[in-house]
Amino acid sequence: MTEKVLEVKNLEVIYQSKKNIFGGIKNVYAVNGVTLSADKGEILAIAGESGCGKSTLAKAIMKLIEPKSGEIIVDNQNVENLHKRKELKNFYKKIQMIFQNPYASLNPKMKIGQILREPLEINTELNKNEIDEIVIKKVHSVGLDEDCLKRYPHEFSGGQRQRIAIARALVLEPQIIIADEPVSALDVSIQAQIINLLKELKNELNLTILFISHDLSVIKYISDKIAIMYLGEIVEMGKTDEIFTNPKHPYTKALLSSAPELNPDKTKEKIQLYGELPSPENLPQGCKFHTRCPYVFDKCKTETPNIATFSENHICKCFLYN
Ligand code: SF4
Repeated sequence: MTEKVLEVKNLEVIYQSKKNIFGGIKNVYAVNGVTLSADKGEILAIAGESGCGKSTLAKAIMKLIEPKSGEIIVDNQNVENLHKRKELKNFYKKIQMIFQNPYASLNPKMKIGQILREPLEINTELNKNEIDEIVIKKVHSVGLDEDCLKRYPHEFSGGQRQRIAIARALVLEPQIIIADEPVSALDVSIQAQIINLLKELKNELNLTILFISHDLSVIKYISDKIAIMYLGEIVEMGKTDEIFTNPKHPYTKALLSSAPELNPDKTKEKIQLYGELPSPENLPQGCKFHTRCPYVFDKCKTETPNIATFSENHICKCFLYN
C-alpha cells in the first residue's frame, strides 16, 4: 500500500516585480494551480524549460516563499499552519533541499564538520557525541572519508561538494529531499556518480525525492514519476515509462523530441519546439502552450483545457483529449 508523504493542491505563487526604472509593480505568475503528490520511497521528477516555475515550486514547498493560495501537505500536515519555531524545526526534520550549485551552497568559512553539525545543533536536542556519530555515519553514506570533516569546502571538487551537500541534507534523517538541478553544475562524468548515489540513498532510506531537472535523460534514469511543467502549470504527469513511451501533450512530445537519444525510434512522432517561453508576467489566454503548439486551433486561444485521465497515474491538460 502506498503512502502519500507530499501533496500540493492548486498551488499559486505570484511574485511582484518592478515594471521599469520609473517604478510601478507587475505581477509575475510563477506557479499557476499546481496539483501533485509523491509517495513514500518515490522519485517524482519535475521537468520543463528554464523559467517554467520548477524552482519556485520547490521554494514554496520548503516554505522559503509564501504562496498566494493553495495547500502544501507534508506528512499529513498542512505547512501553512506552521509558524512557531518548534513547528518549523519539526518541519525541517521532515524535508530538506539540495541546491544546484555546490560551490555556492556550502559556507566557505566553515569546516565540513561544522557545516554538517549545524542542522543538528539548531533542530535537535542531541548531545555532542550523538551529533558526531550521526555526522560520521552520513559522511560515510555519501562515499566520503571522515577526514573531510576537518577541511574547508574549497578543498573539494564539485562532485565531492555535492556529496557534502547531500550529507548535510540527510543529517536530520528527513523523509523528503527536494533536489533542484543537483547535477547540472557538474561535469558529465561526475553527474552519473551523484545520480547513482541519490538512487542508492533513496532505496536504502526509503526516501521521497522531488527531483527538479531540465535534463530528460537524467530524469528517465532516476525517476519513478514525471510531472511536465509549462508556464507554472503541470500539463502532463504519469509514470516515467508511460510518459516516455506514450506521451500525450504536444509540449511533452516536443521536449522528448529535442532530447538526445542513443538509438532514436524513427517511427515516433517528432515535434519541433519553436519560439521562446512566454514571459510569466504576460501569460497567454486559453491554453498557455497555444503560442508554440503545432496543433493549436481556435478554442485553444480563448479557453482553458480540462485534465484528461488516461490511466490511474497518467493525466494531461490538452483539448486534443477533452
Ligand atoms: Fe495545443 Fe490546443 Fe492542446 Fe494547448 S490545448 S496543447 S494549444 S492542442
